[in-house]
Amino acid sequence: MERTVKSKSNKKTENTNVFYTVALKGLVAFPKMILHFDVARDKTVASLEKALAGNEKIFLVTQRETHVEDPQINDLYKVGVVAEIKQVLKLPEHNIMKILVEGVYKANLVQLFDDGETIRAEVKRTPTYSRTKTDTVEIQALMRSIKDVFEKYVQFLPRMPKELISSIMIQDNPVKFFEDIVFNCHLNYRDKQDLLEEPNILNKLSILYACMSSEVEIMELESVITEQTRNNIDKGQREYFLREQLKAIQEQLGEDETEEVDDYVNSIMALKIDEKSRAKLLKETDRLSKLPSASQDAFVIKNYLDTVLELPWGKYTKAKISLEKAKEILEDDHYGLKKVKERILEFLAVHMINPDIKGQIICLAGPPGIGKTSIAKSIAKAMGREYVRVSLGGVRDEADIRGHRKTYVGAMPGRIITALEQAGSANPLILFDEIDKLCSDIKGDPSSAMLEVLDSEQNSAFRDHFIEVPFDLSKAVFITTANNVGDIPAPLLDRMELIELPSYTAEEKFHIAKNHLVPKQLKEHGLKGTQLKIQDNALNDIIAFYTKEAGVRSLERCIASLCRKGAKKIASGEAKRITIKAKDLQDWLGVRKYTSDLSSKENQTGVVNGLAWTSVGGVLMPLEVITLEGSGKIEVTGSLGDVMKESSKIAVSYVRSIADKYSIDKEFYKSNDLHIHAPEGAVPKDGPSAGVTMTTALVSALSGKKVRCDVAMTGEITLHGKVLPIGGLREKTMAAYKAGIKTVIIPADNKPDLDEVDDTVKNAIEFIFAENLTDVLDNALVD
Ligand code: ADP
Repeated sequence: MERTVKSKSNKKTENTNVFYTVALKGLVAFPKMILHFDVARDKTVASLEKALAGNEKIFLVTQRETHVEDPQINDLYKVGVVAEIKQVLKLPEHNIMKILVEGVYKANLVQLFDDGETIRAEVKRTPTYSRTKTDTVEIQALMRSIKDVFEKYVQFLPRMPKELISSIMIQDNPVKFFEDIVFNCHLNYRDKQDLLEEPNILNKLSILYACMSSEVEIMELESVITEQTRNNIDKGQREYFLREQLKAIQEQLGEDETEEVDDYVNSIMALKIDEKSRAKLLKETDRLSKLPSASQDAFVIKNYLDTVLELPWGKYTKAKISLEKAKEILEDDHYGLKKVKERILEFLAVHMINPDIKGQIICLAGPPGIGKTSIAKSIAKAMGREYVRVSLGGVRDEADIRGHRKTYVGAMPGRIITALEQAGSANPLILFDEIDKLCSDIKGDPSSAMLEVLDSEQNSAFRDHFIEVPFDLSKAVFITTANNVGDIPAPLLDRMELIELPSYTAEEKFHIAKNHLVPKQLKEHGLKGTQLKIQDNALNDIIAFYTKEAGVRSLERCIASLCRKGAKKIASGEAKRITIKAKDLQDWLGVRKYTSDLSSKENQTGVVNGLAWTSVGGVLMPLEVITLEGSGKIEVTGSLGDVMKESSKIAVSYVRSIADKYSIDKEFYKSNDLHIHAPEGAVPKDGPSAGVTMTTALVSALSGKKVRCDVAMTGEITLHGKVLPIGGLREKTMAAYKAGIKTVIIPADNKPDLDEVDDTVKNAIEFIFAENLTDVLDNALVD
């Protein structure tokens, strides 16, 4: 209900009304707008109470400046809104009123009455919008622009309801559009006041566009600044936090930077090292002291110094060699190997007489599993030195031997220095395993680095790229192993003393198994000899039917497997004592792996037992030839290498030259195709020593004469039928012996090599020494 001014002092002019008044701080009310705010000033609270009591509307007008507490007419804008009180909530203890109002119409402030208790205002109603066209193109364009800005604006206000946003975006009534935005967006109160005062909708919209654009700009800038500040704070805080943590950790560990450097200096001073190297190391500590302790460089230097300090500078194990003791150790650890042991004792004797002797490097050569590594261990034991093994198999990078410079990421010392660190003494026995498997490629030649290591002239100042200061290797003893002597780079081989370890006979294997491997495996599996027994004939069967090797590695694996299974049975209570018999082997180890050998059991035409030498030892290699009607082609199969293919051609030519003698059709090479095959086609074979075998097989196939199945042969041939000597006699004859061959034909020039052949083999086999192919054919063909 509107009321006219009654007070005498309050003059009322025409068309004006008087209302209790609320001066708004930083808020602007609009007609139709719902607004809620708190009222705390005494005069305003009293005014509102009066208005409420009289059920009257109120006048809302905005203060020009928000800080003014008791506004006079000049402190207020001239345009306000008459509003209806919708809801009031009193909070008496704070003397605050929360009120909800709705704007009704726009009014101009004419006069203000302040009686010291309440404020009232005389106001004159004024139209909210002037009467202008609202569907002009300008208005449409403006609305579009405002919508664009509004879209950006709402991105900064994630909590604005989606429905409201979409309803604004599709609104086409300019007045409603204007009100929706103004009522819901936070704009500066001065801008809002301008928007309220302006009656023309076009002008209103253009003011709105301007202030929204600037608002968006400000918000964009604000967000950039906030982001930057947050990043700065985050980074700074993170670093600060980590540093504090590090400090705390260092304190906890009792680490102090200066203390750390001092420790290094003290340790370096205590090292038994030459002065030049000491100076170099002290220089590093000096650099370290100047670096922040958590830096990458400091870490690199510390790692370097730690590694250098770990090395056994000037630490030597003292041990006297007693030949008696050494002999005992070698005998205890190894069965057989008589010659090898003798050579090693000689080597030890020399060391005993002259402990500083240089340049004695033994190379133990032979097939895998024949005890090279374990002999080296025994030598170390006999010499009282630490034992370390460095595997060289597949090493193709020089840095593997000599290390990477410490400035590389993840740099490490090479294998030699690592081995010394492991050994913990500067005079260990270092075993370089598989020196024949060193490879060289573009990354450098590791064998040249090995040369330096093994060369007694140079190794007293061995330089590792990582360690940088020289280390004296001259007191260490080096032993190398190789499977195939032919693959050792010649300059390396030159510096070494070769000791060849032969492959074992079945008897030797049996003794090794019974006296060494079985006790060793029982111990490793925590079994007592009374708990698990392997009968002798079972061991023999394992050797014959479950392994095929020059050494005893598979044999040891089979025994280990028996022990494992036995231990399981005993542990599970299935058995208390176990005896493994030959007939039970199938249950323990599965079906026999090698049931028959390849040698034929009856005399045949075109099948001859050859003997070959491979890295696993000697093997019996039967060769087959058949003749077929054809046009003189020679087919060679069974992975035969080039040298073997050439041998076949020599054999054919030779057979043509002696065709008459064996009643062979002279034209055979025109009317027949010849097929030569070596079984076990997947195993590559090469070398000239199959020459005699091929010729014999050819003559047999062409003449129809049978070949003795109990004869094996080896030898290279010339075109004129001479038989040339071959290598690996010991291994080859061993293979023949294992296959049950009675007679072996060997080149006459190999006669002196018979010394190396095992006595067991010599006793069991008759040797025929062939000068030429006639000798071979005479003995091999059945008349
Ligand atoms: P390699 O180094 O030649 O490959 P290892 O030294 O590794 O062979 O030998 C394999 C296993 O055979 C080891 O357990 C070793 O003790 C054993 N061995 C080899 N030869 C003998 C032997 N003559 N006497 C006793 N044990 C042996």
